[in-house]
Amino acid sequence: MFDVVIIGAGMAGSVLAERFATNKKKVLVIERRQHVAGNCYDETDEVGILIHKYGPHLFHTDDEQIWNYLSRFTDWHVYHHRVKALIDGAPVPIPFNLNTLHEVFPKILADKLESALLENYEYGKKIPILELKQSANADLQFLADFIYEKIFLHYTQKQWGFSPEKISGAVTARVPILVGRDDRYFYDRFQAVPKRGYTELVKNILDHKNIKLLLNTDFHDVMELRDEKIYLFRKRFKGQLIYTGQLDELFKKKFGALPYRSIEMKFETVDTEIFQAAPVVNYPNNYDFTRITEFKQIHPTHSPRTTILKEYPQDYVAGENEPYYPLFTDAARSAYEKYSAELARFKNITAVGRLAEYRYYDMDDTVKHALEIFSTLNF
Ligand code: UDP
Repeated sequence: MFDVVIIGAGMAGSVLAERFATNKKKVLVIERRQHVAGNCYDETDEVGILIHKYGPHLFHTDDEQIWNYLSRFTDWHVYHHRVKALIDGAPVPIPFNLNTLHEVFPKILADKLESALLENYEYGKKIPILELKQSANADLQFLADFIYEKIFLHYTQKQWGFSPEKISGAVTARVPILVGRDDRYFYDRFQAVPKRGYTELVKNILDHKNIKLLLNTDFHDVMELRDEKIYLFRKRFKGQLIYTGQLDELFKKKFGALPYRSIEMKFETVDTEIFQAAPVVNYPNNYDFTRITEFKQIHPTHSPRTTILKEYPQDYVAGENEPYYPLFTDAARSAYEKYSAELARFKNITAVGRLAEYRYYDMDDTVKHALEIFSTLNF
């Protein structure tokens, strides 16, 4: 009856569902939660502000094809994300750039450090903190130690439970030091949030006569893997299975639970028009939460009150909280490889997305990758 079964109605699953459906395949999408859009899910809260239930999602891409593809399903509110970090009691722009330098140091020192940066790097260069720390130049060494201590060390420890050296360097390299004066968080050409939210966007992607959506359904209740074969509603399923959940769950954790990092999301409505100096303020030091997001500054809303979100990182525990990030340690990667080898035994199952592929995909990477997978699978 179905040509394709997709587990998970997040960004990856929904894009693949749409592609297959548009290419005349009958698609069944199975989603455990009672809503679509995965962790991009947003909703309007009781004071009329659009909040991102599973943490802030800011769409950005340099890829015009991805931008055009998604633009078929939504209008946009152009929004260039800005973040400040609370350093020694003052909110300063991050990624750390030449403006930040002048906000945190007295003029003479800031000028000296700026010269050192410009003498050693081209204007516009983005330097990962772990690379800047290797610098032989004494001024740059001083600057790297300062930024490492004030911005990266304690934030990363809170966020991941490990210091920056103990996790993949690609994680802290997402927020490089910029030899320039651009205060935005991302530098991509296209930056925006869907005008009516991500949930609407994903609903539109899934709105196709060839797609059947089953919400509130754990795939284990309707599917089974046995002897390298797939059974759907107890009958042999010979079509394509796209899996976007945690890979260990597909195999009932037979090699043990894969580590994921979770976050406790605490929303608060505050009786003030604007709460903070930027849409997101990071708290690298001295607090249990990592950052505060003020959604009104992302989705402009007239309201005498405002809604904020504090994020408290914690380990993922199945059934208790949500998996948000794979863990980027060597041990976690090798645990994942076992499941990935198991998956390779099934010719018609493809793992796609952040949880299933165990990768730090941004939304645009997810969409891009889903479209690439489609072009290899279209049968
Ligand atoms: N990071 C940090 N301090 C900051 C911002 C980021 O140490 O103020 C590090 C931290 O390890 C974080 C990583 O950079 O997990 C990536 O940050 P990003 O903002 O991209 O994280 P996400 O929004 O994906 O949670």
